[in-house]
Amino acid sequence: GTSKHSGKIITSRLHQGDGGSSAAMAAIKHRRTALERVEKFISDTYFTDCNLRGRLFGDRCPLASLSYFQTPRRIPYEEAVVQEFGPAQVGQSFGPTWETCWFKVELSIPSAWAGREVHFVWESDGEGMVWRDAQPVQGLTKEGEKTSYILTRSLKESEPHSLTLYVELACNGLFGAGKGSMIAPPDPDRRVTLSKAELVVFNRDVYELLVDLEILLDMAQLLGEENQRSFQALYTANQMVNVCDVMDPSTFPATRDLAAAIFSQRNGESQHTVHAMGHCHIDSAWLWPYEETIRKCARSWVTVVQLMEHNPELTFACSQAQQFEWVRRSYPGLYARIQDFVAKGQFIPVGGTWVEMDGNLPSGESMVRQFLQGQRFFQEQFGRICSEFWLPDTFGYSAQLPQLMHGCGIQRFLTQKLSWNLVNSFPHHTFFWEGIDGSQVLTHFPPGDSYGMHGRVEEVLKTVKNNKDKGRVNHSAFLFGFGDGGGGPTQKMLDRMKRMSDTDGLPRVQISTPDQLFSVLEKESSQLCTWVGELFLELHNGTYTTQAQIKKGNRECEQILHDVEVLSTLAVAQDKEFQYPASQLQQLWRLLLLNQFHDVLPGSCIQLVVEDALQYYTGEQGAWLAGPSRVGASPAWWGCRGSNPGTQSTLVLNTLSWERTEVISRPGPNGKETLGMSDLGVALVSEFLTEGETANREMLCLFLPWGRALESIANGCANQFALFDDVPLYWDAWDVMDYHLETRKPVTTMLKPLEVTLAGGLRGSVRFSLKVGKSSTLTQEIILDAMCPYLRFQTQVEWKEAHKFLKVEFPVNVRSTSATYEIQFGHLQRPTHWNTSWDWARFEVWAHKWLDLSEHGFGVALLNNCKYGASVHRNILSLSLLRAPKSPDSTADIGLHQFTYAVMPHQGSFQEAGVIQQAYSLNFPLHVVPASCAPCPAWSAFSVSSPAIVLETVKQAAQHSAVVVRLYEAHGSTVTAWLQTSLPVKKAMLCDLLERPVGWGLSLEKQGLRLSFTPFRVLSVLLVLSC
Ligand SMILES: [Zn+2]
Repeated sequence: GTSKHSGKIITSRLHQGDGGSSAAMAAIKHRRTALERVEKFISDTYFTDCNLRGRLFGDRCPLASLSYFQTPRRIPYEEAVVQEFGPAQVGQSFGPTWETCWFKVELSIPSAWAGREVHFVWESDGEGMVWRDAQPVQGLTKEGEKTSYILTRSLKESEPHSLTLYVELACNGLFGAGKGSMIAPPDPDRRVTLSKAELVVFNRDVYELLVDLEILLDMAQLLGEENQRSFQALYTANQMVNVCDVMDPSTFPATRDLAAAIFSQRNGESQHTVHAMGHCHIDSAWLWPYEETIRKCARSWVTVVQLMEHNPELTFACSQAQQFEWVRRSYPGLYARIQDFVAKGQFIPVGGTWVEMDGNLPSGESMVRQFLQGQRFFQEQFGRICSEFWLPDTFGYSAQLPQLMHGCGIQRFLTQKLSWNLVNSFPHHTFFWEGIDGSQVLTHFPPGDSYGMHGRVEEVLKTVKNNKDKGRVNHSAFLFGFGDGGGGPTQKMLDRMKRMSDTDGLPRVQISTPDQLFSVLEKESSQLCTWVGELFLELHNGTYTTQAQIKKGNRECEQILHDVEVLSTLAVAQDKEFQYPASQLQQLWRLLLLNQFHDVLPGSCIQLVVEDALQYYTGEQGAWLAGPSRVGASPAWWGCRGSNPGTQSTLVLNTLSWERTEVISRPGPNGKETLGMSDLGVALVSEFLTEGETANREMLCLFLPWGRALESIANGCANQFALFDDVPLYWDAWDVMDYHLETRKPVTTMLKPLEVTLAGGLRGSVRFSLKVGKSSTLTQEIILDAMCPYLRFQTQVEWKEAHKFLKVEFPVNVRSTSATYEIQFGHLQRPTHWNTSWDWARFEVWAHKWLDLSEHGFGVALLNNCKYGASVHRNILSLSLLRAPKSPDSTADIGLHQFTYAVMPHQGSFQEAGVIQQAYSLNFPLHVVPASCAPCPAWSAFSVSSPAIVLETVKQAAQHSAVVVRLYEAHGSTVTAWLQTSLPVKKAMLCDLLERPVGWGLSLEKQGLRLSFTPFRVLSVLLVLSC
């Protein structure tokens, strides 16, 4: 019985085996041992003496010579190569941080290596760039898996065996030089070590087998035991190890055939398609300064171009016009090669903006300019504008963006940052995003939750598994390439994905373009859902407050550029001699837009970047003082001809489109006086009213020394400062966590008691000082002007805290379940309660110039001149004032701060009460200019008939000899309004945000131009003047 039985087993085993040969008997293939056997076969740690990985490189040969010179500056090649080079060695260290070493590399390839692929291998922890024949040819960055430069793919006798290369080595890593952790402040004394510099023979056939085995091993491990493909991949890999003799390359083709057989087993028609696109996220400044980014772009992009030359299928999506402009100026040879690949459709400009800006804090006009400067650049340089907005890494997205995209020729949007939400998982990856005006854009989040994929099996599987809209659409984006600090795609990433192009069990992976992806998504869009309102990132909410000086510089420069454009445009209309400062304005706008980059304006950058940013702002302010302020100083432009030296008068310029009555300061015996104002335009005032309405002293008197109770509106302590512990989980400059609210301490220590500084008349004011925290002081002047509906808090803080958060609170007698916050060209509501996780995740939010809490008939608004962080919980309005994070800038926010906020109780709705206009007035002070000319009538350049309409922008059109006027509906209403102007308008037409005419011309009627608005509609009008 027994022997007969075993005989059957043997027979059946013979049937299942490979023909009965005793050497190839089918093994048991225990899953774990088979997996680990393959792992060890390709391991770069274990058994490299006998495994396949150990055979990747053949013979090696030292360099003929290596020498270097070092400089603290980032200098051009021509300047570098004429320096004196001293000897350098492998193993040597260079530094300190931010220095640059230029290496002269002389090499000689042994002639015995004929027919072999030869690499120049360079390993260091700095960022290198290879120069050959005076051109950059490739980046060499170990962290970006680029450590070898291919000298020849097959050494021919005819080619030169000896040559000289230069390596430009930046003494910083891909992520700067953080001391101890990535986001820690940079270590100023870090040194980079050159650990390898030599020539090697590269065994391409070994490399290909390694990639095959890696993919099969990943399939075996990741597809899981419930999937038969997992076992098929494992058994194939195991069989390849059997067939492959690492010492005998003649066994390699048969080994590769086994892999090819399984990779070529195709999917069914229904399989998901992954649209792979090369990408390289380069932060325009972050843990390194702007200057280094220029070189990061060059290192990353030259490597991309070089890859494209050998991989004609490679596509690369590249955003940020500023970075193209940097490379155009500093690397013209490389730029020309990039232009060639743009023309071929491989190097693909995307995004349409000047930089990948912060998505919350820039004003509406700034966002328009991001697109205007960006799209115009792409049009000029590459002959086309971008058709998708590209902002993968920004910390939240304003609900105004869909309309702005539409106005700039864009109806598609890509990001992935909401995958960072700490509380709620965003329910879509492909959807229509609808803004506050109803505009919709097709939006896609790459479902792998990253913009820096490496072409791994795990990532393509995650892309499908994680996709919340699978079943609705069958396509996803997959952005591959090292990112943040640059780096970009590698050959290996491409080689991995080639194997996965259509392999049963894995999604199809095709090299694609943003246009191909969005086009197919548009076709499949019938089942897609719509998300209405902002895309709020439930993380990084400290970035509305961190680096207060950067925020203040942003707001001030937005105001300055607004005023310069308005006044320059009016000056042109008044005086043909006046030159509109177009190129100067373009330069200033570009600096402001650059500082709106998503690690600069949010304040999440190192100290070096902060210094640069503040210097750019100072330059803008300086340019204003040196140039366009003269506009205001020349009464001739305002129709006040004929100077009269004997007459002392005052010229007042109002750059907003409504009448203003404000107390202004004028030097003179009478001190502060009041005057009336016209609409946007000029008033020349020589007779001041000395008796105006008296400031409401009663309102001031209600303020107690601290926790001043504004009893008419509050039942608690209004203007209450509160200090919070502010220790996030990791991202110090970025995050304020929910638990900080549990550490609230009211600020109550008086340094100087309340004193009356101005007793009344046109202006009344009081002043006091508080001690804040351990050693910070706060001095505040509370000012109430006659006829002014708000109380102004002019604040100065000497801030010396660590990990503290200062806010000011206004509890008010208002009950409402939602509060209103100003955003770009409009406003939106957010809840005042914490019902659901979506509600309480917004414990710290952002606003622009105002926020408001109203019930029917009454409300209180909080205005500010340079703050963005805010919240309203129940009946308490809070404005976030200062933070004190220590990473990545240990000096963040330490020092003197000056800012102003205001509280405005009002009857009726905030719209009826003019909160929007008052917030503008606080941010756009009247320009008061002494003049010496005879009194002349005030005149108004523009006015609008409806209080719902804000005239935001007046500028010269870029490509027409015309004036652009931009207006928006601010109340959330449907309204028809008349735009009146005293400028000599010959022709008027609507245009889009890129200033391209749209639709029919507008007819000029007696009342002006008739404009129709729907809620939050932004309209731009081109005015052709007859002068
Ligand atoms: Zn980024």
